[in-house]
Amino acid sequence: MILNVDLHCHSNVSDGTLTPAAVAARAKANGVDIWALTDHDEIGGIAAARAAAAELGLPYVAGVEISITWAAQTIHIVGLQIDETNAELVQGLAATRGGRERRAHEMAEQLAAVGIPGAFEGALKHVGNPDLISRTHFARYLVEIGRCADTSEVFRNFLTEGNPGYVPHRWASLEQSVRWICGAGGVAVVAHPGRYKLSDLAFDAFFNEFKQLGGSAIEVITGSHTPDQYGYYAKVAADYGFLASRGSDFHSPSESRVDLGTLPPLPDSLTPVWHNW
Ligand code: AMP
Ligand code: MN
Ligand code: MN
Ligand code: MN
Repeated sequence: MILNVDLHCHSNVSDGTLTPAAVAARAKANGVDIWALTDHDEIGGIAAARAAAAELGLPYVAGVEISITWAAQTIHIVGLQIDETNAELVQGLAATRGGRERRAHEMAEQLAAVGIPGAFEGALKHVGNPDLISRTHFARYLVEIGRCADTSEVFRNFLTEGNPGYVPHRWASLEQSVRWICGAGGVAVVAHPGRYKLSDLAFDAFFNEFKQLGGSAIEVITGSHTPDQYGYYAKVAADYGFLASRGSDFHSPSESRVDLGTLPPLPDSLTPVWHNW
């Protein structure tokens, strides 16, 4: 039997729009067999997610998606099967979240300079967790005021490198993120590798360093990959001996292209990250 496994999605504890319980219910309704909530830099939704999953009889895995900076790029590392009470993980994530408010004020200043005042307060209205203000919340505000038709249009014109509202940020290191995850008993997974703009040479260095630090998996089937990239990263997983993960990266019923539990299965040739769970 092929299990429908979804190990990457977001609630309103980070930049999703649904509560952890509502995401659990949606996963169950969509036929997911094993589910992980992976909010950005935040474990505050885990208790509610676990309780809702238990109520639904939905097998649940504690997860997180950590923002890191590597070679001046923002990269995301997912941690699965983590002990969310681990002190070093808790402190590391708190420190990672710490810079977000200052960054958000700078983003708002840049937007004000191009004629969009009040974006900090505007974004804050969309925030479910004041500790986690993200670019997505600014994007929702720009849609709300009619400046852009949808959040994709926002990210093409604002908040990204070279555009107003982009504030470069130094996140955790690769070494820290893998140490926090593995130290908490978890498995470290490179999120949506197809989204990063790295040369083949840089990718090779990145995957080798990740593996050497104790990282063991990459996402192959994700809502952030094109079907061509499924094949490409299946080969990468095989070449480097990584386990393979699958996750929608669902954020919102109205914004996300891919819903929970609706992606194709992993290619048969790969070892799923959940093989021994
Ligand atoms: P932040 O962690 O504050 O930098 O925000 C990053 C989040 O913005 C990602 O997790 C996505 O949810 C969203 N995002 C970034 N780039 C795009 C894009 N091009 N289209 C849609 N959402 C994006
Ligand atoms: Mn996000
Ligand atoms: Mn991500
Ligand atoms: Mn994500």
